[in-house]
Amino acid sequence: MDDLLIRGGLVIDGTGKAACRADVAILDGKIAAIGDLSGSSACQTLDAEGLAVAPGFIDAHAHSDLTFLENSSGASKLYQGVTTEISGNCGSSPFPWAEQSDATSWRCASFRDFCDRFEAEGYQMAVNQAMLVGHGTLRESVMGSADRPATEEELNRMKSLLRRDLTDGAWGLSLGLEYAPGFFATEEELTALAEVVREYDGILTCHMRSEGLRIREAIRELTDIGRHSGAHVHISHLKLDHVRVHGQAPQVWALVEEARGTGVRVTADVYPYAASCTSLTIRCPRWSLDGGNPALLELLRGPHRQEVIEGIRSHYFSAERAETCLFSDDGGLWPEIVGKTLRTVAEDLLGTTDYASAAAEVLLRTQAKAWCIFFVMSEEDMMYFLSRDVSIGSDGWALSGNPAEIRTRPHPRSYGATAAFFQLAREKGLCTIEEAVCRVTGKTAECFGLTDRGTLAPGKAADITVFDPDTIAPRATWLEPVQLAAGVRHVIVNGIIVLKDGVQTKMRAGRFLRK
Ligand SMILES: [Zn+2]
Repeated sequence: MDDLLIRGGLVIDGTGKAACRADVAILDGKIAAIGDLSGSSACQTLDAEGLAVAPGFIDAHAHSDLTFLENSSGASKLYQGVTTEISGNCGSSPFPWAEQSDATSWRCASFRDFCDRFEAEGYQMAVNQAMLVGHGTLRESVMGSADRPATEEELNRMKSLLRRDLTDGAWGLSLGLEYAPGFFATEEELTALAEVVREYDGILTCHMRSEGLRIREAIRELTDIGRHSGAHVHISHLKLDHVRVHGQAPQVWALVEEARGTGVRVTADVYPYAASCTSLTIRCPRWSLDGGNPALLELLRGPHRQEVIEGIRSHYFSAERAETCLFSDDGGLWPEIVGKTLRTVAEDLLGTTDYASAAAEVLLRTQAKAWCIFFVMSEEDMMYFLSRDVSIGSDGWALSGNPAEIRTRPHPRSYGATAAFFQLAREKGLCTIEEAVCRVTGKTAECFGLTDRGTLAPGKAADITVFDPDTIAPRATWLEPVQLAAGVRHVIVNGIIVLKDGVQTKMRAGRFLRK
């Protein structure tokens, strides 16, 4: 007898193959059989009549590294049918830090220490996590936040820490080349580390040096790293975030195709929103972040304040530009700004039309912890990229569905990216339902090397999403982001029912996945 039977659904198996009506049996956390199982019995049965039965969706780009500390529900993702997230992205991960982790900080010495501590302290999570090693963290632990190339000794130290964590099951290395200290690294350093990634058949994900005016150079740098190291390289959250490059998505994608044509393995993920979200420090000149946020704050308090402001002014030189920046998080230090634009904060709270100075004031008052939603992309470019063979990555977090538990006003992508992709596929004719499922399951699993997930077949891990292809859609909006997605009926993680009849159960079945 099986543990669980999902009866009467339309099976979309994640390979891109046409949907077909079948039952799915689950035993010991794995798929036991698929077909006409009307003669079988199980301890539990789920009715999937009129619904699609798919592999659990994989969020190709997330930052849920430590979200289990605040909330184990991961509801923002689970209600979209997401059962696995790729985390540790954009150069940042909870390991490896030089010092041992202590009781208050989650700066862990290694990937293994991180997982061990999670277990030892009895934490739980709803969604599986496949972790990458953050290059920024790796570099900072070896050589601090300095703006200089790594010495040979430092590079060797980075390589050996990376090797250790890849041996323990991390899935690759993530770069964050628009942030300190990632952007201090040379292409040579990155190529040397990519060679280690290739030894382990891992993936090198990259938040590129530029997603705007210098995006061509940025893609070339990444594809060169792929070419010279032999590693699989992956563009994180592919977008065009500057008005002067809007409309150039086809030409930019052509660079990816060109690299593929010469034998480089290049993949990408995209989120279906025309606004990004990150730290306000991304608008500061690079030199001002030599030494990280503490150094930036020091500069803003001292005689060089005006020079930093002039750097910020290249982004916020007009009311119109200041209108494109919406504060989503104040780091708990200046709640009045959350949900307001830089223009409003400047004019109404600070009484100035000098928007760059206002941004500097926000950085000071929030200790550089302010986060913003930046309305800087075009829908047209976004739709072009989504229509290529990209994965879908939210760039968001596994969060609670209860607005009272969320202090900030996060980008709605945490609650809606995967669901929004299905809605676009359906309403804009982006692709068939089989192709849409394949993109967020089989293809993404293949991309990251998750061999036991992403398709429905006997022997595979039982991560399964039962949903209504006609209604799956996000509810989260820019100003009311904490709203769970609609259209997902049942979710199974590692054989356990975690969402039933549209409501999350008490079970927390997520695990750290090891390569
Ligand atoms: Zn990023």
